[in-house]
Amino acid sequence: MSLMNTDLHSSLKKYFGFSKFKGLQENVIQNIMEGKDTFVIMPTGGGKSLCYQLPAIMKEGTAIVVSPLIALMKNQVDAIRGISEQNGIAHVLNSSLTKTEIKQVKQDIANGVTKLLYVAPESLTKDDNVEFLRKVPLSFVAVDEAHCISEWGHDFRPEYRNLKGIINRLGDDIPIIGLTATATPKVQEDIIKNLGMNDAKVFKASFNRPNLFYEVRPKTQNVDADIIRFVKQNQGKSGIIYCLSRKRVEELAQVLQVNGISAVPYHAGFDAKTRSRYQDMFLMEEVDVVVATIAFGMGIDKPDVRFVIHHDIPKSIESYYQETGRAGRDGGEGHCLAFYAYKDVEKLEKFMSGKPVAEQEIGSALLQEIVAYAETSMSRRKFILHYFGEEFDEVEGEGADMDDNARNPKPKEEAMNEVVK
Ligand code: ADP
Ligand code: MG
Repeated sequence: MSLMNTDLHSSLKKYFGFSKFKGLQENVIQNIMEGKDTFVIMPTGGGKSLCYQLPAIMKEGTAIVVSPLIALMKNQVDAIRGISEQNGIAHVLNSSLTKTEIKQVKQDIANGVTKLLYVAPESLTKDDNVEFLRKVPLSFVAVDEAHCISEWGHDFRPEYRNLKGIINRLGDDIPIIGLTATATPKVQEDIIKNLGMNDAKVFKASFNRPNLFYEVRPKTQNVDADIIRFVKQNQGKSGIIYCLSRKRVEELAQVLQVNGISAVPYHAGFDAKTRSRYQDMFLMEEVDVVVATIAFGMGIDKPDVRFVIHHDIPKSIESYYQETGRAGRDGGEGHCLAFYAYKDVEKLEKFMSGKPVAEQEIGSALLQEIVAYAETSMSRRKFILHYFGEEFDEVEGEGADMDDNARNPKPKEEAMNEVVK
C-alpha cells in the first residue's frame, strides 16, 4: 500500500505538477486504482477531474469520460495534452470530427496511446463506436456531471438516462466512476440507481463554505437603490448581480452606470463577441460589477469575487448554492445577498405553467425549498447544508456566525412579517 501511495504522489507531481492531493482525492484515486465503482460528490472547484485523470494515465487501457458539454471536454483535452509529449494521450470523440480524424482517434486507442477518451452520451450510442470500443481494453468509464441523469438535478439530460445500457454493451464489469457537485440526496439516489452503482464506495466532501456570508433582505420598490448603496459600500470590490430577465439585466446595469458604478451587463442575448468582451472586462477588473442572467458564471474562475447579489430569488437552493459559490473562491470574504419578495416566486411558477406536469411538480417542490430558505429564521448555513444532507452545528460549526440570522437572531413571526410586506 505504501509503495502505491508513493507512486500516486510521484505521478501527481510528474503529470500535474502538484505536490499534494486536495481533500479526498487520494482516497478516491486509490479506490479507482483498485478497479472499484466509485461515486464522488465534491463542490465545484473541488478537483474532481483529477480523480479520474490520474488513474486513467496510470492504468492499462483507455478510460472513457462522459461529459455533457463539448466546450468542457475540449478544455480538459487541451489541458491533458499539455502534460504529455503524446498528443494522442487524450481525445474527444464526437460528431464534429472528420472521417480522417476519427481514424486517427481509433488508431491511437488501438495502439494504447490514448488514456482518456472524452465522449458526449450521443456519440456513445452510435453502433460503430460501440462496436469499436468493445474490442479495445478499457480501464473504466467516468460519468462527469452525473447529476444530468436526474430530473431533480439542475441540468437534466435525457441522453444520460441510457448510459448504463451502453456501458454494459462495452464489456463486462467495467468499473464506473460517477462525479457530481450536486449534493442533494434525491439526485444521488437517482445516480446510484441509474448507473447501477449500489456497491460503489461513496466519497462526499463537505459543501460548507465558511467564508461566505449569507443574507436575505426583503425586496421592495427601492431594490435598485438598496443595491446601489450596497455596491457603493463595497467600492472597488468585484461582484456579480444576478437578475432573472435580460431586460432587467440591461436596465440595472444602466442604473448602476448612471450612479457612477462601473458595471457591464451579460446575458445570452448578446452575440458571442460582446459576451466575451464584457466577461473579459470583468475578469481583467476594468469594471467592478457584472449584472447578469444565469448565463454568466459556468467555468468563470475569478478568485476574488467579493459579493454575489440576487436581484430575484433563484429557482432552487441548488442554483443558489452554485451561483453564490462563485464568491470568495480565494477563501477571502464573500457576501451573498438575496432580495426576496413572494410575488417573484409566483412569477417563477407562472414560467413553468407551459411545461409537462411532472416537470412542474418538481419545479414547484424546488421553489418551496428556496422560499423556506428565504423565510427561515434559523442559521442559513445550516439550512443549506441540511438540504445537501449534511449536518451542521450552528454554534460550533465553521462559519456558524456568518449569516444574518446568526448575527441578529429574531423571533420567527417577525422574520415572516418582514418578508411578506
Ligand atoms: P471540479 O471538477 O471539482 O469543479 P476541477 O477538476 O475543475 O474541479 O479542479 C478545480 C481546480 O483545482 C483546477 O484548477 C485544478 O487544476 C485544481 N486542482 C485539482 N487538484 C489539485 C491539487 N491536488 N492541488 C492543487 N490544485 C488542484
Ligand atoms: Mg468538473
